[in-house]
Amino acid sequence: MTNVFVISAPSGSGKSTLVHELMKRVPNLRFSVSYTTRAPRGSEQNGKDYYFIDRQDFEARVGKDEFLEWAEVFGNYYGTHRGELERAAAEGQDLVLDIDVQGARQLKKKIPAAVSIFILAPSRRELEQRLRSRSQDAEAVIERRLREAAAEIRNYSDYDYVLVNASVNASVERLAAIVEATRSRRERMEREIRPILESFENA
Ligand code: 5GP
Repeated sequence: MTNVFVISAPSGSGKSTLVHELMKRVPNLRFSVSYTTRAPRGSEQNGKDYYFIDRQDFEARVGKDEFLEWAEVFGNYYGTHRGELERAAAEGQDLVLDIDVQGARQLKKKIPAAVSIFILAPSRRELEQRLRSRSQDAEAVIERRLREAAAEIRNYSDYDYVLVNASVNASVERLAAIVEATRSRRERMEREIRPILESFENA
């Protein structure tokens, strides 16, 4: 069965780095590439970080029910295409989604077995420093993201796991542990267990 991992965090919590490192470290994970109407930042590539589309295209896709979940975040649309889960299932991979709290809520309703993880910066001060050092955003955007973060972190209680991101290595380690523990859950192991049991029965 395809395990679905939903990771949310206020912007600047170090989530992208953690997700990136997790994908490198744990085999058989597929990163869900979202659709968005926001403009590409820095070195972001279409089809790798996001599919960058315009509002009209996005709304047309919402009309055709193409998204597993979608939401408006910071004035832009973001959505997870149904094809992401289908492809992960077809390839026998688990899916990792980096989506906001609204999306996580929708996804949990549709896929109750999804495992959700909320990442927190160790403090507001730390978050502010990270947002500023990234310095790709204007001052007004940083202020807004800090305000949004204050509201967003109240949603931590909707999640299965909470991770305080004080060090990248320790956090990646924990994320990997969550993935491995989930993969080992008995109900998720049935397909692997069956031939083992059969080999004993047929002996
Ligand atoms: P950013 O613009 O910084 O890449 O992302 C802004 C926020 O949108 C982040 O919290 C990110 O997790 C969220 N996000 C990215 N893709 C999706 C998506 O497909 N659906 C939802 N609901 N949120 C998303």
